[in-house]
Amino acid sequence: MLELLPINYFSLEEFLIVAKGPVPNDVLNKIVRYHWLVLNDIRTKLGIPIRISANSCYRPRQYEIKQGRSGKSEHTFSDDSWGAVDLTCADMNKLFNLLKSDSPYRRICVYKEKNFVHCDYKGNEKKLFINTPNGWKEM
Ligand SMILES: [Zn+2]
Repeated sequence: MLELLPINYFSLEEFLIVAKGPVPNDVLNKIVRYHWLVLNDIRTKLGIPIRISANSCYRPRQYEIKQGRSGKSEHTFSDDSWGAVDLTCADMNKLFNLLKSDSPYRRICVYKEKNFVHCDYKGNEKKLFINTPNGWKEM
């Protein structure tokens, strides 16, 4: 029977920056619908492991504020936000190209020096950005 299960590459803990503590049901639903299923598909096409960079998918608002941030990040999954995820792998170019062509993410931001890519659904059209010494540049 196990061979009939759909393939899965991730565990819930990978999507949670805070390992312990309650996660609201609406956030869990969004993680599965807008990130987990999307990333399983991308991972299959990529053929090599993808890591949720620093477990940075859901970051509770209180956690963000403790870090000295505004608490308004897409990573907090607040209100109408579908959330955000940071990804890294051994072939960032291939990952970036797959996210661009084969994922529903609308905003994809490359942090070249830090070797991860941030993905979320903000905006109404697909936009790609890269971090440069002079700030963000649209690609
Ligand atoms: Zn991010």
